Amino acid sequence: MYRCLRLGRLMRHIFTAALIVSFFVIGSRLSLAAAEKSREAPVSLPVIMYHSVCEKPPADYIVSPSQLDADLEWLESHGFTAVSAQQLIDYTNGKGSLPKKPVLITFDDGFYNNLSIALPLLKKHDMCAVVSIVGRYTDDYAAADPHADCYSYLTWADISELAASGRVEIGSHTYDMHSRNGLRQGCAKLPEESNDDYTSILRTDIGLLKTELHDNCGIVPAVFAYPFGALSKESLPVLRDSGILMTLTCREGMNTITRKPDCLYGIFRYNRSGLLTTEEYMERITKELPV
Ligand SMILES: [Zn+2]
Repeated sequence: MYRCLRLGRLMRHIFTAALIVSFFVIGSRLSLAAAEKSREAPVSLPVIMYHSVCEKPPADYIVSPSQLDADLEWLESHGFTAVSAQQLIDYTNGKGSLPKKPVLITFDDGFYNNLSIALPLLKKHDMCAVVSIVGRYTDDYAAADPHADCYSYLTWADISELAASGRVEIGSHTYDMHSRNGLRQGCAKLPEESNDDYTSILRTDIGLLKTELHDNCGIVPAVFAYPFGALSKESLPVLRDSGILMTLTCREGMNTITRKPDCLYGIFRYNRSGLLTTEEYMERITKELPV
């Protein structure tokens, strides 16, 4: 009886010791993994900003289908891999990895041709993109005059189709602050406006598109593109509050992606003007990449 008790106590001691050792081993592995992640070299990320893709004469905000095709071909043949916004969000939260030469492709304003022309080309080159839409354009213009490549905007059904392709994430480009009329530029704060007034106007606008995207397409946007790149220091807290995890500007430059989520706020982008050749444009966006 006494021997049984002693044996039982011994077994308990062995079990406790094994538990402590395994906690120590697992714990040190986890902290090693965390240390490795924090030591990782930052990743350089060029971001392309397209608008309309159609057979109109190329302009600052219009590229032809063959120009887009040539751009994607160039990226592919030079070893670039298109990454999604979600991949970047995951990465900055410590999940997953990024390809050796990532590129983020974005389209602003929500043109119908992003579905009719750009999506087939993204499929052809096995790439993905973020399309940031303006709610008012979809509600008013697209509903009135859908499905002309050169001037229509995406309807809610088109937006759902884009998202269902698995290649396109839908971003917010405001509901109705995509204008330069009056004093306000895009969604920037007016100089004489109080913080409370500004916050309330922006929150209402962002909330409206968020609701429409959710109700019409079941989408919750994580990306926000500032119209005309105009922003104020008061803009970001409102966007964060509404669940935005990445903001896109129109400032040109290279981005540095780390494991910190805040590095996704204020992403620089290079506007893809149709007035440049593919080589000229790619030279611009890759010149700051480390060799
Ligand atoms: Zn725009």
